[in-house]
Amino acid sequence: MRRLLVTGGMGFIGSNFIRYWLRRYPDDQVVNFDLLTYAGNPDNGADFGESAHYVFVRGDIADCAAVEQALSQYGIDTVVHFAAESHVDRSIDDPLRFVRTNVLGTQSLLEAARRRGIGKFIHVSTDEVYGTLGREGLFSETTPLAPNSPYSASKAGSDLLVRAYCETYRFPAVITRCSNNYGPYQFPEKLLPKTITHALRNEPIPVYGDGLNVRDWLHVEDHCSAIELAVLHGVCGEVYNIGGNNEMTNLDIVKRILQELGKPQSLIHFVADRLGHDRRYAIDSTKIRRELGWAPAYSVEDGLARTVRWYAAHTIWWERILSGAYRAGAAADEGGA
Ligand code: NAD
Repeated sequence: MRRLLVTGGMGFIGSNFIRYWLRRYPDDQVVNFDLLTYAGNPDNGADFGESAHYVFVRGDIADCAAVEQALSQYGIDTVVHFAAESHVDRSIDDPLRFVRTNVLGTQSLLEAARRRGIGKFIHVSTDEVYGTLGREGLFSETTPLAPNSPYSASKAGSDLLVRAYCETYRFPAVITRCSNNYGPYQFPEKLLPKTITHALRNEPIPVYGDGLNVRDWLHVEDHCSAIELAVLHGVCGEVYNIGGNNEMTNLDIVKRILQELGKPQSLIHFVADRLGHDRRYAIDSTKIRRELGWAPAYSVEDGLARTVRWYAAHTIWWERILSGAYRAGAAADEGGA
């Protein structure tokens, strides 16, 4: 039996990962350690239940003592670290918050895990740390880090701290760098759920600049299966890129969603480009495919169609976010309204 501490397990990928893990390894124990920021949605974990196999702990990764307490109380052997500030636009408005959570928070988590002597630490990072590509080429694990946004710079900072812990303390960490995820439970400020929820309400869909920025899209469950392999077989000290070879422009993806929903393209509304907007990301995931035997299960056509259907069938989930009702539990916990 493994005992996992998953940070950020009320967010998009973290909650999908916990669901994935509990389904595949029902005898393991998962501790979901999450601060419940605006992006942490208790509704995402509503189906996890409270049992010997799953427990929720509200806490801040930047609070080293609280992390150490959870690691020791639950006898954790593996940490899977998702918790982060994750929205590029917000990082442009408030970079300090991103440094605090992503850099200082990760350092405090690493320190707590080092002191407790845990067996394995998976640091979930992003392809955005590599910066931007021209028309040609792919990011490999040896591509130099060249982040362009405060978000990606803070993630790159956390990657470098993880690397330093591996080198200095022989800390047992693996870094994964994944491309853009899509799937259920994604906060509706991000491109896909924003597009789907606006389209369902027949509202204009904002698209940055000329809409020709290219991203490499991966279904969140395929990201989860890659992290699973990193937990089970990833070599400590190594970096693994994860991507689905599904390059699409933002405009293409928006058009495809509109087509899926039978909505008109006239809903597309071009807006001023994001500052420092990276033009193209694309991942070479040969290493994780060859060394850990990973392969994505979803085609982008199938994955997108299922995702659109999920949001159409779960209107209450996203309406509770848009109305703010999803925060009620977290706010009460803080002594708020
Ligand atoms: P998200 O914003 O949906 O969720 C982040 C979660 O972290 C929330 O539940 C939030 O409450 C929690 N959190 C924030 N600050 C915390 C703190 N100080 N202590 C404890 N918990 C805290 O993010 P996501 O999209 O699920 O991304 C998860 C991770 O995956 C991030 O590290 C991100 O950089 C990485 N990633 C995301 C993508 C993507 O496409 N979304 C792609 C590659 C990598």
